[in-house]
Amino acid sequence: MTSDTCVDCRERDASVNIRNRRLCAACFSRYVTGKVAKRMESYRFTTLSADQKRRLFLPVSGGISSLVLLQILDDQLQRQIAKRNRTAYDIVVARVVLPGEQDQPTDAKWYEDLKTSFSKHTFLPLLALHNVLRLDSRIVEDLECLGLARKVNESDEELFDRIMSSTTSNTARSDLRSVLLQRLLVAAAKKEDCEGILWGHSDTRLAALALADVAKGRGGSVSSAIADGPSMYGIGFNYPLRELYEAELQTYGLVASEPLLQEVADRAAPVQAPASIRTTAIDDLLSTYITSQGEKYPSIMANVVRTASKLEVRRPDGTTAACRFCVMPMRGQLGGQTRTTDLCYGCQRMRQDIRT
Ligand SMILES: [Zn+2]
Ligand SMILES: [Zn+2]
Repeated sequence: MTSDTCVDCRERDASVNIRNRRLCAACFSRYVTGKVAKRMESYRFTTLSADQKRRLFLPVSGGISSLVLLQILDDQLQRQIAKRNRTAYDIVVARVVLPGEQDQPTDAKWYEDLKTSFSKHTFLPLLALHNVLRLDSRIVEDLECLGLARKVNESDEELFDRIMSSTTSNTARSDLRSVLLQRLLVAAAKKEDCEGILWGHSDTRLAALALADVAKGRGGSVSSAIADGPSMYGIGFNYPLRELYEAELQTYGLVASEPLLQEVADRAAPVQAPASIRTTAIDDLLSTYITSQGEKYPSIMANVVRTASKLEVRRPDGTTAACRFCVMPMRGQLGGQTRTTDLCYGCQRMRQDIRT
């Protein structure tokens, strides 16, 4: 026996180094899928009545994380079919093409390939960010809180372009974009009768998100934003990859037998420092920093998420007021006298960088 034997099975040669343990590809894959399975326990058969059909929404970004999630769940569902001839839930996959991405002709082809590889699931047609104006029945009204009102005869595309060009800082622009994306995905999930959204965020991504939220004055709602369970949007949120690092998901993609996964894991570019800090949105800055530094200090990153998750999570209990725009919980009670605005502190700050 060589010294480089997998510490788990003690049989096969180790090929990956995970959290200071040398594992073979098979044991490593089991480690990743085990973490996801544990996080998906609330969607087991035992929580389902005999004739109930459960639908879960899975947004894919084109990156490795959401793709790994789709592959692991697809595998789980196929095993359920083989064993019981039915699944505990169905998956509805959606992809939003963000502004700046739509010029890539490969995108539609990639999505078609994805559909072919995971043909058991429902795939929504590609969505554009401006579809939020059509799918979210309250968004146009809520945008008025930010001083952005629709003009007479203005089309969705025109209004959307005007919204996006109204920001005077990159941070506000990226903040606005992420709220619109969230609202679009929630609206699409509700329209598809899904009871929950499965977010493909890794631990690394959640740490970046938590720190960026604090930096943007959204610290009060961080724990609610990254918690598993009922969300303020009136739909369940789940982060099944929350205990896995970005680098681990990439390794998983590389050792997976699914060619699409290998391809995306392969092309995941090394993290580049932004050219100019002054013109970079705080989200991108922290994301770059954490992805590059997180590899060196993974336990610190894991602590960011764990600590943020331990803070008070406010649920939609009928008394918690939600921000009109980002739908996150706010201080002050519904119907109480303490509330002076419809917007949370983070959205008020964002509004200062919106030219109306
Ligand atoms: Zn092994
Ligand atoms: Zn808000």
